[in-house]
Amino acid sequence: MKEPWYEYSVSYDWLQSSTKNGKTYDLDSYVGRREYYQEKVGPEIEYLRDYFREKTFLGYWLAPKQAGKGTYMNGLKEIFGTELFTHISVGDLVRAADIEYREGGKDSEIYAYAKANYRGDMHLDEAFDALSGRTTEKLVPTELVMVMLRRAIEKYEKKTLFIDGFPRNLDQVSYSLYFRELVNYRNDPDVFILINAPITVLDERMKQRRTCLTCGNSRNIALLPTKELGYDAEKDEYYLICDLPDCKGGRMVTKEGDHLGIETIKSRVLADIEVMKRARKLYGIPKIELFNSLEKEKALSYVDEYECTSGCRYTHDAEGKVEIHKELWTVQDGTQEFYSLLPPAVVIQLVKQLAAILGFEKKS
Ligand SMILES: [Zn+2]
Repeated sequence: MKEPWYEYSVSYDWLQSSTKNGKTYDLDSYVGRREYYQEKVGPEIEYLRDYFREKTFLGYWLAPKQAGKGTYMNGLKEIFGTELFTHISVGDLVRAADIEYREGGKDSEIYAYAKANYRGDMHLDEAFDALSGRTTEKLVPTELVMVMLRRAIEKYEKKTLFIDGFPRNLDQVSYSLYFRELVNYRNDPDVFILINAPITVLDERMKQRRTCLTCGNSRNIALLPTKELGYDAEKDEYYLICDLPDCKGGRMVTKEGDHLGIETIKSRVLADIEVMKRARKLYGIPKIELFNSLEKEKALSYVDEYECTSGCRYTHDAEGKVEIHKELWTVQDGTQEFYSLLPPAVVIQLVKQLAAILGFEKKS
C-alpha cells in the first residue's frame, strides 16, 4: 500500500449525537431513502424547507475531484426538490463562455457583458485569449471568472445558490469573502461546504468507474454496480450493463485515463486540498465539514453497517451467469483503516450542520 499524499482525519464534532435508531433502511431505493431521511433528520428537513421558501443563502462546495459534490447535491435535490435552489458549476460556465466567444468573438453576448462589467489588471481581450487557451502561460483572471458567475446568477430569479468550482485557488479564496456583495446576496448567509475523503476512496472511484457510451451514465464496478452484469470469457473480466430506463442497456466500459486513477490528477487534488485548508482559516464564514469515511473502530458507534459502502466481488457459473458478493469495504489510508459512508449518510451530516448554521434549534 502506497503512502497517501495527505493524511485523512475525522473530526466527530458534527455528530453530537448519533442518529442510530435500531432500524435498517434500503438506501438503494428512493422510498427507502425518503424514510431514512425523514426518520433521522425530519425536523431539520422541515426547518430547512421553510427556510429555503422564504430566504436564500450561498453555499460554496470545496472538495477534491471525485469527492462526491455532484452526488451530495443530488441528495439535497432528492430531499427538497429542484425548485428551491440553483447549482452552478464554474467549470461548465467557463467552457460555455469559451465556446460562445470562439463562435461570436467580440460580437458575442458574453464579450459585451464582460466589457460592461469586467475590471482587472489584465486587458479584457487578453483575458478572453487566456480563456480560449490561446495564451497558455496566462491563467483566466479571477475577475473574469467572477463576471461570468455574476452573469449566470442574474439569469435566475433569486434562489439559494450552490457554487461548485469557486474558489478554485488560493487567490480566489479571499475574493469569495466579498462575492455575495457582488451578486446581490449581501444580506444572505454564505457557507463553505468542505468534503473530506481519503485518497484511496477518490482513487477507487476513478479506477473502478465504468461509463455507458450510449447515454453517459456512470457507475462503479467495485462500489456501485448495476443490477445486471455480464462475464466476458475471452478477457476473463466482468462488466456492468447500463440499467437506466431510457437506455438500450449497453456494456459499460472504462473511459480513457480512468484506469490510471487519481495519481494522474494529483496536482489538481493537492491544490484543492490547499484551498480547503485556507478556507478553514477564514474568519466570518461558517463551515460545514463532511466526512466520507469514519475510523473502523469508531464507525459503528456512529452509524450502522447498512450506511457503509460495500465492496463487490463477482463469480460466475458455467453459463456465464454472474453472482455478486458484497462485504463491508475497508479503506486503507496510510496505517489507518476506515469505513466509507454511502452518500445518504453524508447527506445527513450536511442537513444537520446546515440546519444548525441557519438557526435550527433541536427541541429536547
Ligand atoms: Zn446507458
